[in-house]
Amino acid sequence: MTPFPLVLSAPSGVGKTTIARRLMAQRADVGYSVSCTTRAPRPTEADGVDYQFLADPEFIAKQERGEFAEWALVHGKRYGTLRSEVQRVLDAGRFVLMDIDVQGARQFIGSFPQSVLVFVLPPSVEALVDRLRSRNTESDAQLAERLRNAHTELQDVTRYHYVVVNDSLDQAVEKVSAIIDAEGLRRDRVHKLDEQVSALVDRLEEQIQQYNVG
Ligand code: ADP
Ligand code: 5GP
Repeated sequence: MTPFPLVLSAPSGVGKTTIARRLMAQRADVGYSVSCTTRAPRPTEADGVDYQFLADPEFIAKQERGEFAEWALVHGKRYGTLRSEVQRVLDAGRFVLMDIDVQGARQFIGSFPQSVLVFVLPPSVEALVDRLRSRNTESDAQLAERLRNAHTELQDVTRYHYVVVNDSLDQAVEKVSAIIDAEGLRRDRVHKLDEQVSALVDRLEEQIQQYNVG
């Protein structure tokens, strides 16, 4: 199977990061592309693991050197995916799980057209607000900004190949995992399909000969 990037997008708080972590814990064939950001780390986050945390000038220097496969301003901060990060995971033969916003997804498919885009929806607005509040990582003003942005982000759902509602977490993880498996079986992704089929045809011709002779 030829690995490909799988982009997860959703309004903040729907549960992308949680789904991505679960999937990574369950599947050894899935790797994560660590993004760069200029936002401050949360108490539980580690540099180089959750994000590469950069100051604005460092981020802009990478932008100018064309190191990003995509980048965007999200909630007033810069976020970007390094081409080298995506390539590192693909070269290791693993699917690349990406947690990027809708603007980034639009650019990313231009850089990696084989990508699969999955939009994650909340079961309700009430659940989304509860999740954002319970995470306890944003001030009320930041929370309001994230909800305002959710309003426009939802309009982008039509650009995505798949939609998963994150109601039961276990089921949402299973669904994303099923998308990876099904997409990997698409004809255009099957590794050396021509060679596999011509080997079968050669063998068939031998068998047909034998039966004709007999
Ligand atoms: P995102 O990465 O989309 O901003 P997170 O993964 O940080 O969202 O999830 C936001 C909060 O919602 C976290 O506290 C997480 O534990 C919780 N959460 C995620 N998925 C579910 C779910 N299916 N049911 C209930 N809570 C969830
Ligand atoms: P958070 O600050 O909650 O970790 O992420 C905020 C938003 O930024 C989320 O919608 C997340 O998907 C998005 N994001 C994270 N990394 C990237 C990235 O590399 N590129 C883009 N465009 N968005 C990202």
